[in-house]
Amino acid sequence: MKDNLVAFFEDNFVGLNDAKVSIMCHAFMYGTAIFEGIRGYYNSSHDTVYLFRLNEHIQRLLENIKILRLEVKYTQNDIYQLIVDLVNKNNPKEDIYIRPSVYNSAKKIGPGLGTINPSDLSIFMIPFGDYFNANSGLKVHVSSWRRVEDNAIPARGKIVGAYANTALAKGDAQASGFDDCIVLTESGHVSEGSAMNIFLVKHGKLITSSITDNILEGITRDTVIKLAKSELNIETIDRTIDRSELYLADEIFFCGTGAQITPVLNVDNRKIGNEKVGLITARIQEQYLKTCRGELNKFKDWLTPVKSTSQVH
Ligand code: PMP
Repeated sequence: MKDNLVAFFEDNFVGLNDAKVSIMCHAFMYGTAIFEGIRGYYNSSHDTVYLFRLNEHIQRLLENIKILRLEVKYTQNDIYQLIVDLVNKNNPKEDIYIRPSVYNSAKKIGPGLGTINPSDLSIFMIPFGDYFNANSGLKVHVSSWRRVEDNAIPARGKIVGAYANTALAKGDAQASGFDDCIVLTESGHVSEGSAMNIFLVKHGKLITSSITDNILEGITRDTVIKLAKSELNIETIDRTIDRSELYLADEIFFCGTGAQITPVLNVDNRKIGNEKVGLITARIQEQYLKTCRGELNKFKDWLTPVKSTSQVH
């Protein structure tokens, strides 16, 4: 991969180091941007990077920008092609993470969303390995911070400003010696992890928090539900979850683009199951990673292959 990675910024491909917003940018001052996180998996035997569920990520981005009344001149297909071109230009031979953002680029004081919101699309990509050490499993606590409510900052919007909530929750978990945390809704029910969705295994069934419990409706969450049904014949129950159900679960795992499938082995100093990676978690993790790396023919529709170019641009 090139030393100075290429990014897409203000309608052009430029060096990542040159892609800089003004300190007066509305999104910088008030968090008024919507973003996505997409993974690309490098398969060395195919010499190809597989972008995972690219269309679904772009679709979610283009839906969510309505919340902040942002508009972008690029279509779904344009953004798809820009991301493929960006990956081609950087020519990675390792796993990557891609971050498109649509942001309010007005340079004005005052948080108001005017009738005309100048907005821009930026996209960068970086090499990216594991977000967590997925094999050893996590020790987490229930955060004293609550997930942002839908009527405060909608969590499903993937709004940049809402991630101050994530930073407080994750930051305090780490400062207290935990790997991560589980956040509750204001009504005290399980919402999700700091930046990932959560699944419990109980009596051989999967349970995940409902989309009305202030979660981001994760693409990995949807993938897990589909893989569990199709490959393991396990149904997922999607409902409100009590905090104490966490302590009594047989297995717990987080899922997300960054987190992939990460076992949670201890919550609030209580062992989950026998504190070892559970059988169902392990099977879902295996299916998920094989799917992402293009090793299962069945789910090829979820992958956008970007073949390596031999020369470095
Ligand atoms: N919840 C939050 C708050 C997140 O930031 C993420 C990561 N995007 C997720 C859940 C998982 O979503 P996805 O599977 O679409 O990456």
